Amino acid sequence: MKDTTKHQGLRNQLANVLEAKGITDAKVLDAVRKIPRHLFMDSSFEAHAYQDKAFPIAAEQTISQPYTVAFQSEVLEIQPGEKVLEIGTGSGYQTAVLLELGAEVYSIERQHELFKKTSMFLPKLGYRPKRFIFGDGYKGLPEEAPFDKIIVTAGAPYVPKALLGQIKVGGRLLIPVGDKEQVMTLFIRKSPKEFEKHELGGFRFVPMLKKKN
Ligand code: SAH
Repeated sequence: MKDTTKHQGLRNQLANVLEAKGITDAKVLDAVRKIPRHLFMDSSFEAHAYQDKAFPIAAEQTISQPYTVAFQSEVLEIQPGEKVLEIGTGSGYQTAVLLELGAEVYSIERQHELFKKTSMFLPKLGYRPKRFIFGDGYKGLPEEAPFDKIIVTAGAPYVPKALLGQIKVGGRLLIPVGDKEQVMTLFIRKSPKEFEKHELGGFRFVPMLKKKN
């Protein structure tokens, strides 16, 4: 598959749709205009790649809906050079958005098939996170902590304590919490012991996978 002016046109339309749904961050919308989402999906879904929908990828997972990716990216208020931990690499589309926003990205994936596939694929498009990690997102990444921002892109049954502990004071953790449906929950660390919590509405994610024993 390649990228064509037709795909570019569809991306511009998708950015307009996201703007109409309430996304206002110009840098996020620019990232949507730039990243060839169809290349992150199975070729059988190519015709639908620029609809505002989630689609299946490998290992029973999904590439998140563009609105969800844009919403999470906007809420994180990423500044260039910030250190960001992403949990749930999946297709790498959200990773690419974070990189377009200028973040230094560390991305953890629980499933080996996706870890392998995406860590080969993203650099081919010129997207280079600091590290891809095959591991368990419940633990975060203690050896690289603290982070300016942490984003979770799978539905978490609860808020892992390790993740709260790995954000800088002034930093943000954005995590969808719940089983069948999730509440998008933002924690802002006000001091070493204080967190401000904001609930930002309902979303649907695939469930965060438990650690295998
Ligand atoms: N942002 C991705 C979302 C993929 S869906 C995209 O848009 O493509 C969620 C991803 O989280 C899946 O790839 C899944 O395998 C991964 N995941 C689930 N549980 C995890 C865990 N405990 N640690 C790390 N990754 C996990």
